[in-house]
Amino acid sequence: MVGVLARLTKLRGAALNLLLPQFCVGCGKEGAFLCNSCLQSLPRLEPPICPRCGRPQSDGELCRNCHEWQADIDGIRAPFRFDGVIRSAVHQLKYRNLRAIARTLSQLMSEYLGNNPLSGEVLVPVPLHNKRLRERGYNQSALLAKELGALMNFPVDEMSLVREKFVLPQARTTSVEERHANVVGVFACRGSGIRGKRVLLIDDVATSGATMNACASVLKLAGVVAVWGLALAREI
Ligand SMILES: [Zn+2]
Ligand SMILES: [Zn+2]
Repeated sequence: MVGVLARLTKLRGAALNLLLPQFCVGCGKEGAFLCNSCLQSLPRLEPPICPRCGRPQSDGELCRNCHEWQADIDGIRAPFRFDGVIRSAVHQLKYRNLRAIARTLSQLMSEYLGNNPLSGEVLVPVPLHNKRLRERGYNQSALLAKELGALMNFPVDEMSLVREKFVLPQARTTSVEERHANVVGVFACRGSGIRGKRVLLIDDVATSGATMNACASVLKLAGVVAVWGLALAREI
């Protein structure tokens, strides 16, 4: 019975996708959320990059910021710069309620992971505060994590990591110092289900890396052995 219900729910999702016309978020062409020509012109973040923060770095060595950064996160990667069509896509996902685009975007993340494997056995989305979750109705990072988990056959843990403190969105802070200070004490880990695991944190956009690092800090305090971060896009 449960199987039948699950299949019906899936069918209904598929039917909705068929019924809703998809328009390219880059050029408006009908057919897909990202048309072939916009897919070709995505702002890819190519190596050489800093092995820690994932930002472009001409010699492929630790960048100056990371030399001074006492990071808890093992590293951050993103397939794209937060720019152009990717910026529009994230905007649609986050602020225009276009949840269905999460599948397209997670496919891009899964292609990236296929070519650039990262350590991790469980996906953990960067959580939203409950207040924000109520306003938006969904956590865009959790949507990406769920789609990515389904594509790559990874479990997703949405329970262990929680956001306890409500803070200014990182985009509204002005300096790196402010961004790091803004996320201190924001996250907490619940239960012991995640102890001993290797976590791949999932977010839509990484800015300074402060949010992902704050998540990594509490996860490691809770006994997580490794934390890598994968964002769809990196603000450079
Ligand atoms: Zn297009
Ligand atoms: Zn770096």
